[in-house]
Amino acid sequence: MTQDESLDLVKQAIREAGLRATPARIATLQLLRQSTSPLTHAVVAEHLASTGVDKATAFRNLNDMTEAGLLRRTEVGDHVWRFEAIRGDAEHDSGHPHFLCVDCGTVSCLDHVKLTAGSRRVSEQVGEVTEILLRGHCNDCR
Ligand SMILES: [Zn+2]
Ligand SMILES: [Zn+2]
Repeated sequence: MTQDESLDLVKQAIREAGLRATPARIATLQLLRQSTSPLTHAVVAEHLASTGVDKATAFRNLNDMTEAGLLRRTEVGDHVWRFEAIRGDAEHDSGHPHFLCVDCGTVSCLDHVKLTAGSRRVSEQVGEVTEILLRGHCNDCR
């Protein structure tokens, strides 16, 4: 896929979600679609700063795009919201566990890890599961 095609797709996705495809939103969605892990507001803001977008705008856009269904917000117990793109890829979008490295704080998506039907039934007895989190030491920190 060429850069231009992906730009068009990103613009189209933003418009279909009912938002204006501003340069800041386009840059945000492109960044998150290319990322293999959820990114914090700080990381997104830092990336966008080079294009002249201030932190408040970056944060507002992340929230707007989450409400519009373009992004998903994840909180893994460190009180930091991380954002990831909803990509129209069922395996990724149906909600997946995350792996948190307790040493460096890196969060990775575990797209192919799911609760079994039996585990789901058991977990439904205690409540609604909104996040599955695995913690440990990533390959860089081991
Ligand atoms: Zn680590
Ligand atoms: Zn994820």
